[in-house]
Amino acid sequence: MIRWIAEEGTEPPAHRLFIDGVWKEPVAGGYFTDHSPATGRKLAQIADVGVADVEQAVAAAVAAQPGWSALTPAERSEVFYRAADIFAERQDELVGLLCEETGSGYGKAAYEASLVPLALRDAAGLTTHDLGEILPSNIPGKVNRTLRTPVGVIGVITPWNFPLYLTIRGFVHAMALGNAIVLKPAEDSPVIGGLALAELFTDAGLPPGILNVITASRENAAMVGEFLTDDKRVPVLSFTGSSAVGRTLAVACAENFKRIKLELGGKNPVIVLPGADIDRAVEIVGFAGFLHQGQICLSADRILVSQEQYQEFVQKIIARAKTFVPTLPSDPNCVNGPIINTRQLERIVALIEESEAAGAKVHCGGRAQPPYYESTVITDVTPQMRIWREEIFGPAVIVTPYSNVDQAVELANGLFTDEGVDAVAAVGASLPG
Ligand code: ADP
Repeated sequence: MIRWIAEEGTEPPAHRLFIDGVWKEPVAGGYFTDHSPATGRKLAQIADVGVADVEQAVAAAVAAQPGWSALTPAERSEVFYRAADIFAERQDELVGLLCEETGSGYGKAAYEASLVPLALRDAAGLTTHDLGEILPSNIPGKVNRTLRTPVGVIGVITPWNFPLYLTIRGFVHAMALGNAIVLKPAEDSPVIGGLALAELFTDAGLPPGILNVITASRENAAMVGEFLTDDKRVPVLSFTGSSAVGRTLAVACAENFKRIKLELGGKNPVIVLPGADIDRAVEIVGFAGFLHQGQICLSADRILVSQEQYQEFVQKIIARAKTFVPTLPSDPNCVNGPIINTRQLERIVALIEESEAAGAKVHCGGRAQPPYYESTVITDVTPQMRIWREEIFGPAVIVTPYSNVDQAVELANGLFTDEGVDAVAAVGASLPG
């Protein structure tokens, strides 16, 4: 494996773009720094893509794709089976990179990595699926045949929070079916979400030009997005990330009648049903709300509890949250590790301070200890507050009481409805002090 990140006390290595099967210096020559979110240590220097480089990557993908899709299913699937085997051999090192580069605790990183060989083998298996359908025709004696063919080149933009698996899942199936890829990983995970995968597929025998990895600083991300949404040679985009960026890209794709596959953020409720085992519910919410510092698109952040058990649940989840002391990801017990970057930490601080100022009660945590945010439990949130609607994406949960299950479902689903607003106001008003 390439030496991806610096050992303690050594110079960070510099990594170039991966275009047409070759490591290439960016045309404009710029690099940005890849940091450890836990310690701030410089891990690597990463090439910062420019317009001319994106052009080269798309051109390489366009040129290579027909040859790749013309290979037999057995030839294409073999690359993915080999990649799965090589991945398994490198798993420990890749899990280490995931922890270092993104502040992932070991347990979460190991789980994430365990999904990758499954996805690779799944993609391999797709190559022999049926290619279409035979449909009836209105012309006697004839049938209509539909045939599925590769679209050509797919642009892929991926996030840093589950960077290995979400990146793999963003492109391997399409690639197995004969498409070529231009991948831009997140600026906070350029190695584990992109460059290390270029190495993996090269070692597995993928032909040049089929997977191109263009790394970009945050400042250049929008340029890549615009390029990929505008360029007619890229008919499909796959995006995993925030709803805000996803919306921008979806609008740009719609203007060009371009297809986009989105996986965005969430504002995920948990309903603790009346009579539930509260200790078990607290254990589940502790895991679902705080793992990986709550930086997962399916993290639980609105917890709805029946009025009768609300006080007990709140007391117990506070006690549980206090055990998730901010810790280095290298600590085997790490649940609440570093927030990925200062921008995200400041966003969490602003969101929670704003709700506190508007009357929400912060029972524990509620403060940044850079690069960490303390594990936080919030109550008395009203639907008028931004935090009722906006994903926290940090180690914090909101707890809200409900008076019957129908209302709980209304609250869970009714993020933006007037009924949801009225329901919260009614239950909130009826609670004792
Ligand atoms: P987060 O806030 O969690 O970082 P983002 O949606 O901002 O989530 O980032 C997800 C991916 O989208 C990253 O690869 C990032 O670089 C990229 N990105 C950010 N802004 C843009 C943009 N304007 N156009 C295209 N991609 C973008």
